Amino acid sequence: MGAYQHILLSVDYGEHGEAVAQRAKALAEKYQAKLSIIHVLDNIPMPDTGYGAVISLTEDSGYELLEAEKTRLMQVGDQLGVAPANRWLIWGSPKQEIVRLAGQERIDLIVVGSHGRHGLALLLGSTANSVLHYAGCDVLAVRLRNG
Ligand code: AMP
Repeated sequence: MGAYQHILLSVDYGEHGEAVAQRAKALAEKYQAKLSIIHVLDNIPMPDTGYGAVISLTEDSGYELLEAEKTRLMQVGDQLGVAPANRWLIWGSPKQEIVRLAGQERIDLIVVGSHGRHGLALLLGSTANSVLHYAGCDVLAVRLRNG
């Protein structure tokens, strides 16, 4: 297996997200790869914005919820030592935007958390399943305990 050059961590701030983040960071260090992070906003209304809109992390939006989301992603980026240009806050559907950004940025490994769902939740499909299905690159699904 060749070395990974550009790793994308999908950040969702869940209970065990830290473990997923640390795995992505360790892999980036091991392969001396570039590390990018993405968080997709799928639960705050943005009436004048189209899906896939990239939200600038360096400009004030004057929108409280959005500011909080920006701050959270900046903190994760700071903790992981991710360059500001490689921090992506995007409005849309996580399943679609993670895969779309991976293609755009020539990512060769996507790191997501995986809850190991059962029953109806499994039928509805998780973000991890969908990314695994549609991504054109390798995907690492880090098993989240108690998920
Ligand atoms: P889920 O299947 O929705 O429970 O999420 C599993 C994994 O998908 C998480 O651990 C994240 O890696 C990723 N993910 C879920 N939602 C988002 C989101 N809004 N933005 C970025 N990544 C996400």
